[in-house]
Amino acid sequence: MKIRKLLVANRGEIALRVMRSAREMGIATVAVFSEADRQSLHVRYADEAVCIGEAASSASYLRGEKIIAAAQQTGADAIHPGYGFLSENAEFAKAVRAAGLIFVGPSAEAIAVMGSKLAAKEAVGQYDIPLVPGTPGAIQEIAEAKAVANQIGYPVLIKASAGGGGKGMRVVEQEADFEEQMQRAVSEATSAFGDGAVFVEKYIGSPKHIEIQILGDQHGNVAYLFERECSVQRRHQKVVEEAPSAIVSPEMRRAMGEAAVKVAQACQYYGAGTVEFIVDEQRNFYFLEMNTRLQVEHPVTEMITGIDLVKEQIRIAQGEKLSFQQEDLRIRGHAIEVRVYAEDPKNNFLPDIGKLRVYQRPQGLGIRVDDGFEQGMDIPIYYDPMIAKLITHGKDRQEAIERMKQAIDTYQIVGIETTLPFCRFVLEHEAFVDGSFDTHFVAQHYRPEVLAQASTEDDKTVAAALAGWVHSQQSPAAQPAANGASAPQAISPWRKNRLA
Ligand code: ADP
Repeated sequence: MKIRKLLVANRGEIALRVMRSAREMGIATVAVFSEADRQSLHVRYADEAVCIGEAASSASYLRGEKIIAAAQQTGADAIHPGYGFLSENAEFAKAVRAAGLIFVGPSAEAIAVMGSKLAAKEAVGQYDIPLVPGTPGAIQEIAEAKAVANQIGYPVLIKASAGGGGKGMRVVEQEADFEEQMQRAVSEATSAFGDGAVFVEKYIGSPKHIEIQILGDQHGNVAYLFERECSVQRRHQKVVEEAPSAIVSPEMRRAMGEAAVKVAQACQYYGAGTVEFIVDEQRNFYFLEMNTRLQVEHPVTEMITGIDLVKEQIRIAQGEKLSFQQEDLRIRGHAIEVRVYAEDPKNNFLPDIGKLRVYQRPQGLGIRVDDGFEQGMDIPIYYDPMIAKLITHGKDRQEAIERMKQAIDTYQIVGIETTLPFCRFVLEHEAFVDGSFDTHFVAQHYRPEVLAQASTEDDKTVAAALAGWVHSQQSPAAQPAANGASAPQAISPWRKNRLA
């Protein structure tokens, strides 16, 4: 069935990104928004918009029944959940379909299986998919768990089955600490996820996080769209992603891709999904988990494959077959994404809120900015502090890196602190440039002092530039001009050589 009107159950950059593809397909769009997002770009972009509640996401973007009612009220025939919020909520997927609407995503069963790390391990267990050595199921008895840990060899990792976002994991270095750590893990998992099930895994000391994008249709066809390297993480959250990975050979790519396809087949998966692997120093890869939604970092895959993942999601939801075969896919060039957060990298990445007094996106060949803000807007405190995703595409990795550095240098954000200087630090670091980095990159190499000195100089330049601009606008409040007058040129060199 063709979708004529799509409701996007999300906000910010991803709501806009989904609506753009829908519009290109001739599909009308409906936005939902909280009271805090009344003036948001996704609300203005959509053909129609429905307010679904107060600012807190628990009163708005997490209220499935209100979102379904908004779809019915506007005559939408499908709902796209984006990422985060209700995107991996099996009950929501079920309720959407029970209301006679199309859910742009996988089956509720696939979401439920992959939402539990243990159920996922069990599901893929029958296939020939490498798993990190460890317990196959939940483990309650400390003595039993300890015996497994001894067998695997220390260090080991205790993980919560219901864990997510890096929460609910504990490294145990030696047998003497095991009991205490296990008790803590169980109580943490119970209070954080309402589910105390934990399991034990070999701790991989120097791992890379490499994931495979897959697309499956409702006719049993599954293809892999190569890998994304996401090892640069801060507190288990990705900050810089790229495709392809600098260390994956064509043989390894095929092996990982085929394993990912098997993971998808293990749960009769359809839609877009991501199979995450952890890779050890010998380049052995092990299945970690599957994310049953569009990922934040999906643009790097779009850049190197030329495939619009949202359009594919919509076509699949309409019951169409994949529009390509595995053999048709090629990697073209190299793409990098940096996540621009409203956080202060000089101050322990503390969230920073305020007004985007100056906000000018970088432009040029091979530069893509996915964001949901414009100059003069406030960054609300209620949601994820991501302002934008900056993506560059080049003919090879080196060109993508150089392009990213230039793009960061010309990205002008005044009024709030952002992670851009930190991202530039990453791109210049030799461990990033030579591809040898692992998930400990940030902990090992980053110190706030490396940015502090550069920024004192910048601050002076910015202050002077901003003062001049405010004066020229003849507006004491420094409101951005409605006529689109741009910020002073004097600001543009401010990030130049900031880490030199
Ligand atoms: P979550 O669902 O919380 O994101 P994951 O299983 O995806 O949990 O793991 C998150 C991160 O934790 C991985 O990207 C990796 O950096 C680290 N990690 C997970 N399992 C292991 C392991 N066995 N050894 C070392 N690091 C691990």
